[in-house]
Amino acid sequence: MHTRLITSVPDLQSYVREWRARGRSLALVPTMGALHEGQQSLILRAKQQCDAVLVSIFVNPTQFNSGEDFANYPRDLQKDADALRALNVDGVFAPSQEDLYPPGFNTFVEPGKLATPLEGATRPGHFRGVTTIVLKLFNLVQPDVAYFGQKDFQQAQIIRRMVEDLNLNVRLVICPIVREADGLALSSRNALLSREARQAATVLHRCLRRGETLVQAGEVQAKNLLKAMQEVVGQEPLVALDYLALVDPLQLEPVERVSAGTVALIAARVGPVRLIDNLIFGPPGASPDLLLQLAFSARPVIDAGARIPGMEIEALCRRIETCRDCAAMSSVMIPPREFLAKYLKRDYPDLNRVRVMVIGRDSPMHPDHYLYQHPDSPTRFGTALFALLGVQHFQDFKKAFVLTDALRCHVQSEHVPPKALTNCARHLREELKQFPNLHTVVILGEDAYQQFHRDLLERKGDEIKPLEEILKPQGWAEEDVPFPLLPTGTLHVIYCYHPTMGYKHSPSTAAALTPLVP
Ligand code: AMP
Repeated sequence: MHTRLITSVPDLQSYVREWRARGRSLALVPTMGALHEGQQSLILRAKQQCDAVLVSIFVNPTQFNSGEDFANYPRDLQKDADALRALNVDGVFAPSQEDLYPPGFNTFVEPGKLATPLEGATRPGHFRGVTTIVLKLFNLVQPDVAYFGQKDFQQAQIIRRMVEDLNLNVRLVICPIVREADGLALSSRNALLSREARQAATVLHRCLRRGETLVQAGEVQAKNLLKAMQEVVGQEPLVALDYLALVDPLQLEPVERVSAGTVALIAARVGPVRLIDNLIFGPPGASPDLLLQLAFSARPVIDAGARIPGMEIEALCRRIETCRDCAAMSSVMIPPREFLAKYLKRDYPDLNRVRVMVIGRDSPMHPDHYLYQHPDSPTRFGTALFALLGVQHFQDFKKAFVLTDALRCHVQSEHVPPKALTNCARHLREELKQFPNLHTVVILGEDAYQQFHRDLLERKGDEIKPLEEILKPQGWAEEDVPFPLLPTGTLHVIYCYHPTMGYKHSPSTAAALTPLVP
């Protein structure tokens, strides 16, 4: 596959249209070029998680507050493009300044108080430039996921805030800092350091590590930690400290006591070059990803193996929505988009994690009682379902299970025209295909059982035993069935009575599911 170099906004728009039409998930990695292994780590993670990766290279003038710094920023598009080709990224967007800031450009995104301290204090207007360019890129690319580095911690928090505040439909992944062997965080600006300055620059990391060592030895008073850390910087004559702060990771306000997730942020001038670095405090031995999770409480997707719901989900939603049969049936009993559009994309950022799908109806009779509409006060159905599966709360349910509707309709099978059922079965098959590690389905109740056998397993009438009969011995039954459309090729199926449809005893399937529930 070859890497496409895109240099204008219209070309980018047509590229994005092409990708989206293919229904694949799209990752954006914004950079200012002069690529090193730090940015490359973001790209590698994006490649693991999404179908296509677009890297933008743009030295954004509005985030520089010194013309000299902007002019001196290292640029080498040719070298970057070669590196990105070697990484096999799908697209590189390298626009000109006029492309993104044409004459008359006059609208900016104003970040709030997160942008005031630290970098914001030394570089007024910097984050306004960052949020503006990032929003422009989000709008142009419409990525499913965008990747940023912990290296620019304050930037990552400000962008997270913007995504929440402006209801942007993008997930963020924050990746750990990549360092040289001697601890110096990789940065495009490192290329500007003289030999002596390069040596001295390691003091930023040494200072942070000093803090970490003290915290792990039990010191939590910010004042004592700062004093000890400043002493480390003070030993390096070539380095002038700009700031050193221990802050709450979400508000970026100084803390008095350090706790898990507190961040140490440092900025210093090493000769003419200004460098930044940071460290998240956490339990000894915590992985970089766990530390990020501690610092970013609204969980970004940071599991490198995650499979992100892509456009295929949206495309499937649209197909279901426009299917006359599904629409006709589901308007009677269940809103068809509810499962896929509203819940799946939002609640299951990693489709690999779904091992168990519960197929049955989402509520007793009345739409007002749908489980998902009242997660905090489960109806009789919810309570019985949780008991059946061995979970306590809706949140636990959501972590392990996806609840979908059998063929999106629960009218008695005789009333459903065969063509309509075939259509619905096709949609459910497509839905199942979204989960690469789906291992088990739990089928609730007689209707769902019938439809599953007939329309998904394609069994003939005389091969379908009455549900009552197979459940008699123990109240539930299991079988492994060939299911070629799943990557695993087989599906473990557990049949149960519907927990609210008049059956008093649906014994718990928790034992059968336990090995699958993470
Ligand atoms: P830049 O090109 O410097 O704007 O960086 C592009 C992205 O790469 C930003 O999200 C940075 O936070 C991230 N990044 C820069 N340096 C590193 C590093 N050493 N480790 C991990 N990510 C980095």
